Amino acid sequence: MTLRDAPTPPHPVRTRSVTTRVGRRRRVGRRVYAGAVVAGLAASAVAVVQLVSAPTDHVAGLVTRQTDAAPVTAVGLGPGLQQRFDDARAAAAAEGVELWITSGWRTADEQQQLVDDAVERYGSVEEARRWVLPPESSEHVAGTAIDVGPTEGAYWLQQHGADFGLCQTYANEVWHYEAATEPGGGCPEMHDDASHGW
Ligand SMILES: [Zn+2]
Repeated sequence: MTLRDAPTPPHPVRTRSVTTRVGRRRRVGRRVYAGAVVAGLAASAVAVVQLVSAPTDHVAGLVTRQTDAAPVTAVGLGPGLQQRFDDARAAAAAEGVELWITSGWRTADEQQQLVDDAVERYGSVEEARRWVLPPESSEHVAGTAIDVGPTEGAYWLQQHGADFGLCQTYANEVWHYEAATEPGGGCPEMHDDASHGW
């Protein structure tokens, strides 16, 4: 999935709402601004709760759409993809940047659950389809995609991924990468979002 230069949260909807809330209350006064900070912390707590309550670790990253999801030991990735990620992680580490996989291979059932969750989360099928693909076309079910974190690592990979043959493929998902070019090659143009795959 697809994602900004300032260290803002990766979830575009959440980012906009928090920014708006803080901006509006700042103009009112310091006490109200403090309230907005508390509200922001509460929102973070909600995200943590969602993460902890997710059914399995490797689904958690997708459920929350957060690049700060906990790392998982990816399973079911092809050796090529795993090797490319391992190489990228080593290079990032050499620059002092952490990089880990938050979601790799998923079963069709897990993917369908994400679709159902997304419809509930985003409030419409149309919006949900911008963020998640059906099991039959999901690259995660095929084992050809990884979601990465934390946020700094995702942005590092956005800049350096092509060196390792890893490309961000959806403009709205900075955390989603596929082995879409040869190492050192050029990445294909990104899709705006996942809606083309439906
Ligand atoms: Zn993904």
